[in-house]
Amino acid sequence: EDPEEIFPEQTELEDFKLIAKIGEGAFSKVFRAIPEPHAANSFLYRSFHHVAVKVISKHDLNSSHKDSKSKATSKEQVLKEVAIHRNVSASENVVAFVDFHESEHYYFIVQELLAGGEIFGEIVRLTYFSEDLSRHVIRQLALAVKHMHALGIVHRDIKPENLLFEPVEFEPSPTPVLRKSDDPKTKQDEGVFKPGIGGGGIGVVKLADFGLSKQIYSTNTKTPCGTVGYTAPEVVKDERYSMKVDMWGIGCVLYTVLCGFPPFYDEKVDILTEKISKGEFTFLRPWWDEISDGAKNAVKKLLEVNPAKRYDIDEFLADPWLNQYDCTKHLGL
Ligand code: ADP
Ligand code: MG
Repeated sequence: EDPEEIFPEQTELEDFKLIAKIGEGAFSKVFRAIPEPHAANSFLYRSFHHVAVKVISKHDLNSSHKDSKSKATSKEQVLKEVAIHRNVSASENVVAFVDFHESEHYYFIVQELLAGGEIFGEIVRLTYFSEDLSRHVIRQLALAVKHMHALGIVHRDIKPENLLFEPVEFEPSPTPVLRKSDDPKTKQDEGVFKPGIGGGGIGVVKLADFGLSKQIYSTNTKTPCGTVGYTAPEVVKDERYSMKVDMWGIGCVLYTVLCGFPPFYDEKVDILTEKISKGEFTFLRPWWDEISDGAKNAVKKLLEVNPAKRYDIDEFLADPWLNQYDCTKHLGL
């Protein structure tokens, strides 16, 4: 990290000093930044030592859509992301929205900084999570989804890259949780043995990235958005089940944190698509041998191909495995 580094994006942003790039997406760069004391809206930022600024380049966004019609849509896309993010921000488990700026070449979405970064990075670091740590993470994800679904909004991009966390200083369970399948002797010699730990490191978990989110139901009328009377049956059906895509996403994340690899994978996209459409996944040996039936049951109820039978958010929040005991006690929070 070079404090004197000047980012080109900085020249069009007055209120925040960009410090370092901390993330990247298809059309965005995310920076850790500090609010400038002279900023016009500084009263909004005073409680933030650091923020995360998601910078979307208009050029990159536009060159992905050739015709001018979709140029308008790409601006609308950003405004929609901002509107939805604003709308869902008031939850402990959703990354807080702070402010939005547009300049000549960029859009800037200012957010609360989650210093731990992506849950994805913790999976890489630990290989997989203990059941307690998995529960700690997934329960907070479920609370974020509960909040969004209650507002009639579906996230549609739930994955470990979009789950961020605040680190905790202490590691309450320094003893690694070993599973039979880990055979520390051989694996340590190979230098790849990184045991899942009991629950340290990860504090508050928050859901980020509303770039694909969609308002499905109006909260006032409890009806699907759009003109109901003229909607085709397959659309009505799709709308009814659209919340369930997030439940599938939670299932994929739960599976992945428990064992360290995703439920569906193939190098060939068409084969992968086929596996997903059939809901073909297995509790692969030996990695799943030590994992409880309760955890496996929760995964099955989430990765159910038929959306009508798949857990909804309230059913998942009542799942016995998710409620086995209060994991926040375990973390000393
Ligand atoms: P995209 O829509 O391009 O995927 P995201 O909003 O997901 O953009 O941000 C990209 C990455 O930047 C995230 O995966 C994460 O690593 C990082 N990031 C985004 N927002 C924050 C934040 N508030 N705090 C910390 N890191 C963040
Ligand atoms: Mg993302």
